[in-house]
Amino acid sequence: MMVVMKESATLADVEAVIERVEMGGASAHVSRGELVTVIGVIGDREHVGSIELEGARTVVEVDGRRIGGPHFTTIAGPCTVESREVMLETARTVRDAGAGLLRGGAYKPRTSPYSFQGLGEAGLRLLQEAKDETGLPIVTELMDVRDLDAVLEVADVIQLGARNMQNYTLLTEVGRTGRPVLLKRGLSSTLDELLMSAEYVLKEGNEQVMLCERGIRTFETGYRFTLDLMAIPVLKELSHLPVVVDPSHAAGRRDLVLPMSLAAAAAGADGVMVETHPAPEEAICDGPQALRAEDFSDYMRRLEQAAALAGKELQPVA
Ligand code: PEP
Ligand code: MN
Repeated sequence: MMVVMKESATLADVEAVIERVEMGGASAHVSRGELVTVIGVIGDREHVGSIELEGARTVVEVDGRRIGGPHFTTIAGPCTVESREVMLETARTVRDAGAGLLRGGAYKPRTSPYSFQGLGEAGLRLLQEAKDETGLPIVTELMDVRDLDAVLEVADVIQLGARNMQNYTLLTEVGRTGRPVLLKRGLSSTLDELLMSAEYVLKEGNEQVMLCERGIRTFETGYRFTLDLMAIPVLKELSHLPVVVDPSHAAGRRDLVLPMSLAAAAAGADGVMVETHPAPEEAICDGPQALRAEDFSDYMRRLEQAAALAGKELQPVA
């Protein structure tokens, strides 16, 4: 575990952390940089995890919604912004069912350069319309720093996708904006790598970061990725940041989205991000994994029960 001290930390603050680490049975490796001091906490996971260094967990606030702490938040919407009709209809559906935030990609990272790449700025405008109509804050992906200003006009949360988890210049630029960030775990990244990527945002002074488990590559071919549910308690042990789970991209299949959402909620996730579409068969991308809009309110009811098992409450409908 790494403890990054604030720039304003005094020598006595650093020594207090070292003392706490050593009392917990681990050892501290101190690197004094020009701006900040970083303390590496070395020891086995059990010892390190039980050392209480952080008083409070981060609760990310987005337009009155809270992600983290006792709250459970659902981020829902289509994979990509494809048309005004689909965007508005989906926004109404998820708002009426109690989702906290609306997702939709205007810039899409696609495996094939010949696949639909997103509507770009026209997509951002449709997201703005959906936000104006429903009041739902927007989560949307930024892939390229050249689109930062346009995305900042609409996004309440900037999504950094799995493929960009280690795009350090992008992470730094987004950190400088201070805008809340949803940082997705890379397809083959370890939890330590995810946490180091989060540090790139945090070190710019932006503490509004959510970590997102979205499935990792394993040898299993029965589904798109393997959802790493153990990442939930382990990330919470290693970090104070909220953890959101995206079962849609992990599964690639609609039938797995409900059971994996329930498991994530019961395991203590702070929220889920799911794809939903009024007519998944017609969706431009990721239709097979999209929840049917007509099933969405039942999905939310089940989720509420699972979140309660972990002592969390769904936020009231805005
Ligand atoms: C997405 O959420 O739209 C997406 C592309 O996910 P990921 O970066 O996890 O593949
Ligand atoms: Mn998708």
